[in-house]
Amino acid sequence: MAHEGLFQELKVVVGEEYVVHAPEDLVVFEYDGSVDKALPLAVVLPATTEQVSGVVKIARSHGVPIVPRGAGTGLSGGAIAAKGGIVVALTRMTRILEIDPVNRLAVVEPGVVNLELSMATAKYGLFFAPDPSSQKACTIGGNVAENSGGPHCLAYGVTTNHVLGMEVVLADGSVAWVGGRTRETPGYDLRGILIGSEGTLAITTKAVVRLVKLPEAVKTLLAIYPRLNDASAAVSDIIASGIVPAAIEMMDDLAIQAAEAAVHAGYPADAGAVLLVEVDGLKESVEVESALVEEVCRRHNPMEIRTAEDAAQRERLWAGRKGALGALGRLAPNYYLIDGTIPRTKLVEVMARIKEISAEAGLPIANVLHAGDGNLHPCILFDERKPGDTERTLEIGGRILKLCVDVGGVLTGEHGIGVEKQEYMPFMFTEDDMASMARLKLAFATDDAFNPGKVFPKGASCVDISQMKAVARAGAGAFV
Ligand SMILES: Cc1cc2nc3c(=O)[nH]c(=O)nc-3n(C[C@H](O)[C@H](O)[C@H](O)COP(=O)(O)OP(=O)(O)OC[C@H]3O[C@@H](n4cnc5c(N)ncnc54)[C@H](O)[C@@H]3O)c2cc1C
Repeated sequence: MAHEGLFQELKVVVGEEYVVHAPEDLVVFEYDGSVDKALPLAVVLPATTEQVSGVVKIARSHGVPIVPRGAGTGLSGGAIAAKGGIVVALTRMTRILEIDPVNRLAVVEPGVVNLELSMATAKYGLFFAPDPSSQKACTIGGNVAENSGGPHCLAYGVTTNHVLGMEVVLADGSVAWVGGRTRETPGYDLRGILIGSEGTLAITTKAVVRLVKLPEAVKTLLAIYPRLNDASAAVSDIIASGIVPAAIEMMDDLAIQAAEAAVHAGYPADAGAVLLVEVDGLKESVEVESALVEEVCRRHNPMEIRTAEDAAQRERLWAGRKGALGALGRLAPNYYLIDGTIPRTKLVEVMARIKEISAEAGLPIANVLHAGDGNLHPCILFDERKPGDTERTLEIGGRILKLCVDVGGVLTGEHGIGVEKQEYMPFMFTEDDMASMARLKLAFATDDAFNPGKVFPKGASCVDISQMKAVARAGAGAFV
């Protein structure tokens, strides 16, 4: 076997059963939550930082690329082995090493599942605020790599606002700490650079995360609208009123129908859109703010506004939103989820245009939005078995992202660039912008061994861009 020597060396480090290389076993690591697929050469499941370091050193000595992987729920192809190589799955590193309720922080391994961290800290009245809708499955390591958001990130901020420091394995196998246990550390913010770097610069092996006090009171409203435009206008109006709810989520008619059939959250099947608005904080302020939110929602012709009376009702309302993506399988065999962000004032215009694009292309699009952030998730419904469907879907996806950028938005709200959007980078970045990013990548001396073939457009690889432009200007001495 061509790579038997490599596999043997890896087995010595992590143990025989934690090196997977039989083709039938590799198939489950061929994809993540996106539409792209690629088979790795092997999957290695280390249990400690030392093992991760050992695996990196061996892979590098064999000239084989390394792809870090958490739960594989990513939606931009980040965890697939686009250029082959070894997938380093961190899912055995699941220990919560420390919960410090006094300093409100926790130290965790990268494979800890997002929701399990908040469940473990609840007894101290604390939680980890970033809450991707995939939080029952996705890992903290993946959240850090994607700088993930979630419904409650409107008020609380995204992952980078909640990670104080990380232990990382660099491309030469050495172990380093970036950031620490405090909000501010002197020097360059390497922590900030690594968060959101999509596994292209380092592998996170521990994270020190902030914990936030569970709110004293929570109020959740469901505003049901006959028309999408009214719901979109209500979102802009809530934000303009100066209130910052913990969450403002929106779903359109198709998403409602799918979610309702699957989880029976009580959303009316004939609604054009629903808004789920949550206000949290001190009891008194929650009463005042939720009344204001309701007043604003009423200005936009709702069919009905409901308020959850207790935790069970609140759970039920959220179940509809959190189950929406999984439920789309009821409408079509495949969906392609787009992740773009727009200024909230453009919601009415952009949502209307997305509906037009759907009609023009003859492919239904269900919309689920972190609307308060202007973060859109149009889901194009298609059938990959039908000739031409996949190509049309990808083409529409590109048009929607271009639309987001054209109205002053950005290419991704939270899912990263990965392989999915790498060719769209020029929509918003000039060659000089990308050259600056490429120079930064060179400073980590990865030799493109970590997650190659991601983020930068193909044919304008990191090395090409930087060599052509920035390196020549700055001089090699700028790099470590
Ligand atoms: C139904 C559904 C709903 C979702 N909702 C949201 C949402 O609300 N908000 C949101 O932001 N995302 C959402 N996502 C996307 C996804 O869940 C997040 O991006 C999540 O953070 C990925 O975590 P993961 O453990 O699955 O990472 P993976 O998919 O395994 O990997 C994602 C990226 O992180 C890198 N990576 C993973 N672990 C490490 C590590 N330890 N060190 C370095 N790099 C690493 C990988 O190389 C890859 O580039 C959703 C996905 C699904 C399927």
